[in-house]
Amino acid sequence: MEPLDALGRPLRDLRLSVTDRCNFRCPYCMPAELFGERYAFLPRPEILSFEEIERLVRLFVELGVRKLRITGGEPLIRAELPRLIERLARIDGIEDLALTSNGFLLARHAVALADAGLSRVTVSLDALDPEVFKTMSGSPHEPERVLEGIAAAADAGLGPLKINCVVQQGVNEDEVLRLAEHFRGTPHIVRFIEFMDVGTRNRWDLDRVVRAGDIVERIGQRYPLEPLDANYPGEVARRYRYADGQGEVGVIASVTQPFCRGCTRARVTAEGRLVTCLFSDAGVDLKGPLRDGRSDEAVRDIVRGVWSTRSDRYSEERAGVGGPVRSGRRIEMYQVGG
Ligand code: SAM
Ligand code: SF4
Ligand code: SF4
Repeated sequence: MEPLDALGRPLRDLRLSVTDRCNFRCPYCMPAELFGERYAFLPRPEILSFEEIERLVRLFVELGVRKLRITGGEPLIRAELPRLIERLARIDGIEDLALTSNGFLLARHAVALADAGLSRVTVSLDALDPEVFKTMSGSPHEPERVLEGIAAAADAGLGPLKINCVVQQGVNEDEVLRLAEHFRGTPHIVRFIEFMDVGTRNRWDLDRVVRAGDIVERIGQRYPLEPLDANYPGEVARRYRYADGQGEVGVIASVTQPFCRGCTRARVTAEGRLVTCLFSDAGVDLKGPLRDGRSDEAVRDIVRGVWSTRSDRYSEERAGVGGPVRSGRRIEMYQVGG
């Protein structure tokens, strides 16, 4: 039987992090001053192997998961990722196998990923202006490299792509129109994301959030927009089409218009911890049971038990009180991957 959580939500999506490392230092996720050269990332033996990941994904599918997204850290840093994709693409029941990446290594890997059976790629790109890009990515790199990755992915058949842009007040809000314009007239869909208070290290403040409503207004003043229906129930992005038929944009209003009611996502960290909300604490260990020789049924029962008692609705609670509602230990975005 497929479990429902305490608020009646089924388990449909799994976000699987394959590494906690990254080649960028986006200040809203892994601020460089905290994640320096000596930062102790997970040692290799602590990270789930491809065999362990495949076994776990099969168990999640038995509990209802249909969509799988590979993430990180930066997933393209994980050695031999296409080999993992190949294993996961063969699992019956997975209807959509996607990857979220910062795009920096995408041009190199796009063909191998497509050949391995990946369905789609989402690329994060916060700015086209080189200086703003450097600030938002905490890296010395150029946005061209990411644009090349996007083109390579589209050429390899991994498109149309979704391009995710986190918007921060005073940093990249002028990039909104630039990005919208750049991808207008292409099949790719830019989605602007409200800066979230995930974790405890990114100095989140409500004043640094650009409201999704303002983003839609800003684009709409230049290029009239019309709202579109969701593609499926529980879709997190609000969709808009350009009135002149030049494509689509979206906004993810996690802060100002939360969507916990339709949240059917579980997350598994690179070290095998099951996390049921972006704002959870450390999560529940699955690696121990996997490595202790427990049966599939026993591991599945742990996941079922966690999901059945889940009552997460953090963003709705935050919206109710107008600010962060939980202090103390919280999982970080680079650990759960979005
Ligand atoms: N490294 C990959 C990437 O950047 O696409 C995958 C992992 S990253 C954690 C997944 C997504 O989370 C990215 O689109 C990133 O912009 C977003 N993200 C990270 N921190 C965020 C925050 N505080 N608020 C909103 N989105 C955030
Ligand atoms: Fe790396 Fe992605 Fe986090 Fe940026 S958002 S630091 S690219 S994991
Ligand atoms: Fe899901 Fe938690 Fe985000 Fe709400 S706050 S949508 S429950 S992950």
